[in-house]
Amino acid sequence: MTDYEMICQESRNLSAEEQARVLQYIQQIQNKNSGGKAEREKPEHCPRCGGSSVIRFGHKRGKQRFCCKDCGGVFMVSSGTIMENSHYDEEIWSEAVADTLDGFVSLDETAQRLGMSHDAAFHMRHKILMSMEAREKASPTQLGGISELDETYVLESLKGRKFPENASREPRNHGEKATQRGISNEQICIMTGVERNGGSAYAVTLNRAHPSAGEIKTAFQGHIETGCVAFTDGLKGYGHLEEIADCVIESVDRQEQKNAGTANLNNVNNFHSYIHERYSHYRGVAIQYINRYNSLFSTVYRAKESFSHVADAILHSISAHVFSCWDVHHTALVII
Ligand SMILES: [Zn+2]
Repeated sequence: MTDYEMICQESRNLSAEEQARVLQYIQQIQNKNSGGKAEREKPEHCPRCGGSSVIRFGHKRGKQRFCCKDCGGVFMVSSGTIMENSHYDEEIWSEAVADTLDGFVSLDETAQRLGMSHDAAFHMRHKILMSMEAREKASPTQLGGISELDETYVLESLKGRKFPENASREPRNHGEKATQRGISNEQICIMTGVERNGGSAYAVTLNRAHPSAGEIKTAFQGHIETGCVAFTDGLKGYGHLEEIADCVIESVDRQEQKNAGTANLNNVNNFHSYIHERYSHYRGVAIQYINRYNSLFSTVYRAKESFSHVADAILHSISAHVFSCWDVHHTALVII
């Protein structure tokens, strides 16, 4: 009897649950054996010109290189992706992506788990975040159908930066409350919108304190679909969105909210809670990176179960611009 026949016979005696476990084990072995396969596999198209005359072209740092006979470009499988020029392989990158999407894993935890320095983990996370932000810019989130728009506020965190000498207040420690009551310049505004059917979620930061009508228009320009009916709170600025998009803005008053009718902001409030939960876990996000995190929160919030699809897109999509460590530090948001 061959090993194969023996395994087949033995497996008939196993329960359904045990059989499933054996299958899972075999799949794991298969995955391990095909490790690095992506590097050996020849890409069908050149990431530069899209041409299909791709040939193998030696190795660089142990990785297979390819050459395009159409444009003469030399590249690797990771060329044009966030993994380009990285010393870390795809397995490590995919772990870093998983930690980022999780929303509750700190950089120190990622660094420790993957055996790298805090700096290395920082650069990986920010390249991941920047690629999400770039995708949002290239293909802006659309809010249609019945949507809810509202803003939420987070306290400025000066994490990772020296406290400016000319600051108008004393430095605040993590977890401390704002020194002024209500919405002041210490509060960073995150303007958000969600579709009621669970489709899109969008978040962006442009200003401190309450947004002006102009800031609301800038934030939502190009993000509101024709025919959208959007519920908002009483803030007047949202009404001006009817000037830039073919939409209807409905203001919700407190009484209506209490009556539990269709005029409510429950969905957008859920998104705010989701954002605040993650902020408090990260113990604040440095203001200059807030839009990177806004892109993360909106992508993950709407992705729900299809994390693997998001992770795959982050790792393998060819971007027009590959972010370097320099970009991570020098393309941050400035709000005065
Ligand atoms: Zn080419």
